[in-house]
Amino acid sequence: DLQQLHQIQPYLWTFPLKSGESRKEVLLYGGRALLESMDDKVLEQITHVASLPGLVGAAMTMPDAHWGYGFPIGGVAAFDAEQGGVISAGGVGFDISCGIRCLRSNLNLQDVEPHLSTLAERLFRVIPAGVGEEGFLKLDTKQLDQVLLGGARWAVQQGYGSEADLEFIEERGCMSGAVPANVSELAKKRQRGEMGTLGSGNHYLEVQVVERIFDTVTAQAFGLQEAQIIISIHCGSRGLGHQIGTEYLVSMAKAAARCGIHLPDRELACAPIKSPEGQQYIGAMNAGINCALANRQILTHLTRETFMEVFPNSELETLFDVSHNTCKLEKHEVEGKSRMLHVHRKGATRAFGAGHASLPERYRALGQPVIVGGSMGTGSYILAGNRDNPAFASASHGAGRALSRHQALARWHGKQVIGELAQQGILIRSRSMRGVAEEAPGAYKDIDLVAETTEQARLARRVAFLKPLACIKG
Ligand code: 5GP
Ligand code: MN
Ligand code: MN
Repeated sequence: DLQQLHQIQPYLWTFPLKSGESRKEVLLYGGRALLESMDDKVLEQITHVASLPGLVGAAMTMPDAHWGYGFPIGGVAAFDAEQGGVISAGGVGFDISCGIRCLRSNLNLQDVEPHLSTLAERLFRVIPAGVGEEGFLKLDTKQLDQVLLGGARWAVQQGYGSEADLEFIEERGCMSGAVPANVSELAKKRQRGEMGTLGSGNHYLEVQVVERIFDTVTAQAFGLQEAQIIISIHCGSRGLGHQIGTEYLVSMAKAAARCGIHLPDRELACAPIKSPEGQQYIGAMNAGINCALANRQILTHLTRETFMEVFPNSELETLFDVSHNTCKLEKHEVEGKSRMLHVHRKGATRAFGAGHASLPERYRALGQPVIVGGSMGTGSYILAGNRDNPAFASASHGAGRALSRHQALARWHGKQVIGELAQQGILIRSRSMRGVAEEAPGAYKDIDLVAETTEQARLARRVAFLKPLACIKG
């Protein structure tokens, strides 16, 4: 509860050290209402993160934070390898490089509205979604190694999309430092038929309309205008990423014990970045990132094909593709000094500000597109990164859960949720009624409040609000 916290600024809180406690600072971003609704477990978890060796600055939570495995979702933590810093599989998340690809179209609401149900039906038929759904590709281990090295670049080479897409993907679509040999045969086997699939539950492909522009100058650079149709694809590295996380958790627990790292929570298993286990994980995680980038590229291709059937003149350009489950080596200024840090962002979006060298030229003067999901009923946001971001260039990634899946299941039925949304003109297609209930819009926090708070805390600024029209749910 808020009693334990100390408010530093209207949108920034800290958790004071208890006597005898030795850890770094904890910073929680968000206004009073959001923090009041945050479960206590988040505070406990981020406090544990703050006690890990080699942490630089503070352990932070974003306004959408909620409880997760080990690290909270919406957690940000940077470590310095030279100061005994660690890397944690739980700090990246099991769905390595889960993220959102946003496509902007040359269509507007008037074009799409009369054909919305045809479009939803076809997308639902073409986009593999849900547990056990396989894609059209069946890859052997050798081919998968190429995916793990090449990422979205591999997918483009296979004919799924174009060079133009790559410019608007983080790392230009291909993460360096991937080591396929550090990914187990089992992980690769699990991924055999899963390239080009959404996955289940929280993952989605959504047709959206730009309902409001907040920042006209940035919106213009992002190619956004009111009434424009946007497509968002939210998915990650599927079975492969999950298997990597599961296996490295075990090896990290051993490394932590060997290196004498005290783990306040078993789920926080981590290894020194410089240890063999740490280095192996980084190679495997980078491979997992490429798996996710390739996955979203293939789904982009399938989306384009489907749109072409319904709207023969449609053009879907990649606006941006950003991951929210990663640990990346980045240069950051800390107390006036430039340092290379391993920044964990788990359920947090990278949000580079204007001028960052990695940004595509088109956006460089304004900042990185920060893509934030909301819910299938309320809406989503596109924000832009700020140069003066106080959180290692990180921002929110969604609304964040207000209710657990279990609580949501007890409160809603899938059919009822779909019926209510249909009355608002929002079409949901899913193979899992259970999944729809778990993901009911009411199970998430207020996305408008999260976006507003994210802006007030200088993490990122609002550019556009997107309203859902049709959602293919995993
Ligand atoms: P996560 O990556 O943590 O599973 O989910 C990211 C965010 O996506 C959630 O916090 C939630 O706000 C948002 N989200 C979940 N389901 C949907 C959906 O169907 N549509 C949209 N637009 N957002 C969703
Ligand atoms: Mn995911
Ligand atoms: Mn995600």
